[in-house]
Amino acid sequence: MAQNYDYDLFVIGGGSGGIRAARWSANLGAKVALCESDRLGGTCVIRGCIPKKLMVYGSSFKKHFEIARSYGWEFEEPQLNWKTFNEARDKEIKRLEGIYSNLLKNVDVDFISGKGTIQDPHTVAVNGKTYRARYILIAVGGWPIKLSIEGAEHSITSNEIFSLKKQPKSLLVIGAGYIGLEFASIFQELGTDVSVMFRKDYILSGFDQSVRKHLQKELEKRHITMLSKCNPVKIEKEGENYHLTDSKGKVWSGDSILMAIGRRANVEKLNLESIGIKIQAPHYHIPINNKFQTSCPSVFAVGDCVTKPFQLTPIALSEGMFVSEYLFAKDKKLEVSYENIPSAVFTQPEVGTVGFSEEQALEKGFKVKIFESTFRPLKLTLMNQKDTNQTEKTYMKLVVCKKTDRVLGCHIVGDMAGEILQGFAVAIKNKLTKKDFDQTIGIHPSSAEEFVTMRSERK
Ligand code: FAD
Repeated sequence: MAQNYDYDLFVIGGGSGGIRAARWSANLGAKVALCESDRLGGTCVIRGCIPKKLMVYGSSFKKHFEIARSYGWEFEEPQLNWKTFNEARDKEIKRLEGIYSNLLKNVDVDFISGKGTIQDPHTVAVNGKTYRARYILIAVGGWPIKLSIEGAEHSITSNEIFSLKKQPKSLLVIGAGYIGLEFASIFQELGTDVSVMFRKDYILSGFDQSVRKHLQKELEKRHITMLSKCNPVKIEKEGENYHLTDSKGKVWSGDSILMAIGRRANVEKLNLESIGIKIQAPHYHIPINNKFQTSCPSVFAVGDCVTKPFQLTPIALSEGMFVSEYLFAKDKKLEVSYENIPSAVFTQPEVGTVGFSEEQALEKGFKVKIFESTFRPLKLTLMNQKDTNQTEKTYMKLVVCKKTDRVLGCHIVGDMAGEILQGFAVAIKNKLTKKDFDQTIGIHPSSAEEFVTMRSERK
């Protein structure tokens, strides 16, 4: 392949979508190059899913120490060594970065370190050198944005939170989407005093309303302060501290502020306009057709930088594979569907969700039956919690179509929610009914069995 061109495919961006497309295409016989302006691995590996999940694990021990005492374990008050924790996490990230580099080498993808810019529909420039390719794939991901308020420069984003030299004493998280809440939970569990400020009544917009309310209550039980219906207007610095004033004149003071209000596509200076690709503020996502082709026929785009409903790693991976097969495979098997995508929010407790929320199902015109269950997890029953209102509760919900009995949505707030939901996602994807759930024998004793034993419908 690659006659008259240096490459069959030139990939801009070495994150989840770009690396997967480069490897898959090379496996299909294409001559491929990939450029990356930062560290290989992208958001997921370097400053997203993986370092975050390691921090979730690291922070979850506090609760486990408390549980252990209720089972008779005796030990001195455990202490976290912030430096050791961060160094161990960073070492693992470095190891993964090396693995990605080897994966590209193993399939003969040429890796070029540097920022790619598009010169014309078949040419990419990196570090002053140009490369000609039959196809170009843009997989540049996204970047966190900040509110444009006075003093915004005093806040950090999810990028900087992984390099804090010391653990904050207090943290204000602005934004109650999944990224903000996950960090709120991590830092609260690590012992930081955390507040979350958001515009709506409840956290986690877009999720099932019962899930949003339940999680908010659970996070409050864990002493996260929820500042609902707030609009930040300015941040002022005073010595080591920051004061944030909201639109009602209320002031929050503390030593760190995380803005987690959203992300925009990393398309600055890519020179997209020169090849006729139009992007729009505030998110600058690249418009694509159902083959991930942009308005310039030789240029494709995948991952967080394109217009689509979800921005998650497994989706970027499947989009990358789709484009590879579309361009280079004789037998094209893959499809990308945005229906019934399972996802988890790694707060403590976790959220797992797949399919429609109750509100979405009603909006789509379904008449629904709701099955739900709230219970105290068995593992926590030995803890001496005198005030039962303060004990952690797991919440599970099934949204079922009245007419067909098909389970339209499955939601959980509780320990291991992500792990539990992955299997149920197969059931939802395959349109199984409530009867199929009921006929499945539960695994006892477990929380997951609740999904196959719920019998009474909400009145
Ligand atoms: P990226 O992984 O962002 O890769 C794009 C790459 O392109 C970057 O390495 C960037 O440096 C490079 N680049 C940009 N411009 C250029 C250029 N001009 N030239 C060369 N290189 C360039 N998803 C989940 O599924 N589960 C999670 O738990 C989860 N947690 C997350 C936590 C956080 C804090 C964040 C921020 C995201 C999280 N995500 C999670 C989302 C997930 O990380 C992204 O959906 C995924 O990484 C998108 O992959 P991508 O290939 O589109 O982009």
